Amino acid sequence: MTSLSGKTQIDWDAFTQALDPVEVIDEPVLIKKRSRDFFWYSPILNAELRRCFGDLVAVPKSVEELARCLATAFDFDAPVVVRGGGTGNYGQSVPMDGGLIIEMTGMNKILEIGDGFVRAQAGALMADVNAALRDHGREMCMFPSTQDIATIGGFVAGGSSGIGSIANGMLRDPGNLRALKAMDVTSDPKEHLFEGEDVLQVHHAWGLNGVITEVTLRTVPAQDWIGCIATFDDYATAYATGYALAQMPEIGCKLISTVDARITDYFPRLKGHVRSAKHLMVSMIPADQIDAFRAVIEDNDGVPDLTLTEDQRIAAKLPHVFDFSYNHTTLQVLKADRKATYQQIGCPAPPDPQAIADLRPKLGDDVWMHHEFAKVGGEIVTFDLPIIWFTSEDRLAEINATYAANGFPVYDAHTWQVEGGGLKNADYRHLAWKKRMDPKGLLNSAKSMAWDSVKDLSPEDIEAKATT
Ligand SMILES: Cc1cc2nc3c(=O)[nH]c(=O)nc-3n(C[C@H](O)[C@H](O)[C@H](O)COP(=O)(O)OP(=O)(O)OC[C@H]3O[C@@H](n4cnc5c(N)ncnc54)[C@H](O)[C@@H]3O)c2cc1C
Repeated sequence: MTSLSGKTQIDWDAFTQALDPVEVIDEPVLIKKRSRDFFWYSPILNAELRRCFGDLVAVPKSVEELARCLATAFDFDAPVVVRGGGTGNYGQSVPMDGGLIIEMTGMNKILEIGDGFVRAQAGALMADVNAALRDHGREMCMFPSTQDIATIGGFVAGGSSGIGSIANGMLRDPGNLRALKAMDVTSDPKEHLFEGEDVLQVHHAWGLNGVITEVTLRTVPAQDWIGCIATFDDYATAYATGYALAQMPEIGCKLISTVDARITDYFPRLKGHVRSAKHLMVSMIPADQIDAFRAVIEDNDGVPDLTLTEDQRIAAKLPHVFDFSYNHTTLQVLKADRKATYQQIGCPAPPDPQAIADLRPKLGDDVWMHHEFAKVGGEIVTFDLPIIWFTSEDRLAEINATYAANGFPVYDAHTWQVEGGGLKNADYRHLAWKKRMDPKGLLNSAKSMAWDSVKDLSPEDIEAKATT
């Protein structure tokens, strides 16, 4: 077998034999498909990553089969990229160095539903976990809008927040991610348990420092949610109303997003259900709080156009309201026009509607705001995932500079290295654990800018850098 990636000198036939009885996928078209994620949201990443492929895909069904994959990779010095649903936006699961792709969706058992927690294998789909919890009167404290294809392990390794974060905070906030197990890449791979604060050694490390096999997440009591969309004449008013709602614990929203009116032209499925050419506030409200919700909207000169129970939504053949939130908002626009892209922007905290109103005219007509409300460490924050009509890297840099100069930090969505986007600096705790768990540096190493500079140090010396 020749190397599909063009980057490895490994005898992939011998490798495949060594993996037996683990299921493998060696059809080039299928390997190429599994070498992609949603990096194409970014024209910059699309140009850089679309020709990066792995050489072989393994689909382990058990901890033992996963151990066989990792031991074989260790023996052959094969680069490894772990893949969940492949819904990441920054090429996190693209095999930059070629090699083995381990698809985790075969390890998908829900292992335990207990008092306030769920424990599942890393490849379980978030939607399946949520469905199983419903039977126990519980739900996940948060989930990404990609829950139908994203895995629980991929969320822990690559995600950060989602639907539920306005109520329950970020995934990294204490108690949300209770424990995880991760396997090392050695000749005799073992699982390691991380509990309490130690989960942060692996959370959001993009699969660089161990293969997550099992995750324990906090659950909350299930509620009957009403999917709501309210419309406003003015964007800053929609944002101010979102902030007002976020400050009302008695209402207890699960989702609050505001969306510029121009974006709503790209939501054809909402036509006839919400007033056209208006700014949106998208939210999920407990059924017994819907009257209070309507009153807040009307007091703020808005109109609560759409308020649907789950049964009514299904009968109306409408998508979930969260299909118009988080990065699904970008997806709706991209479905119609591939010239769109987006950016990730922090906002002044506490939320300041005036700052949003002041910033809007400074951004060009090629930047259309969309804010998500969440809690970080108990404080309400917002972040902007604007639609940007991409023309050039220079113009994107200019837009970034306008945001930054006005006090809105940019967490660049157009970079494929972990230190380039949300994580501004190297996380030496992650890298120290990488040295412990992956001494040969086989796991997704290209995704860390800092790894090359520390890979010859001891884990303790790498860790010491975290405090210097
Ligand atoms: C339309 C859209 C909406 C989104 N909305 C959200 C959102 O609301 N919130 C959010 O946080 N993100 C969001 N994302 C990003 C992404 O969907 C989530 O982070 C998702 O949880 C990733 O899960 P996955 O299974 O697809 O992971 P993948 O994309 O397969 O992998 C993500 C990273 O985790 C690593 N990984 C996967 N499984 C394991 C494992 N078992 N062990 C170790 N490493 C592993 C991979 O190597 C990769 O680096 C969105 C993306 C899109 C395209």
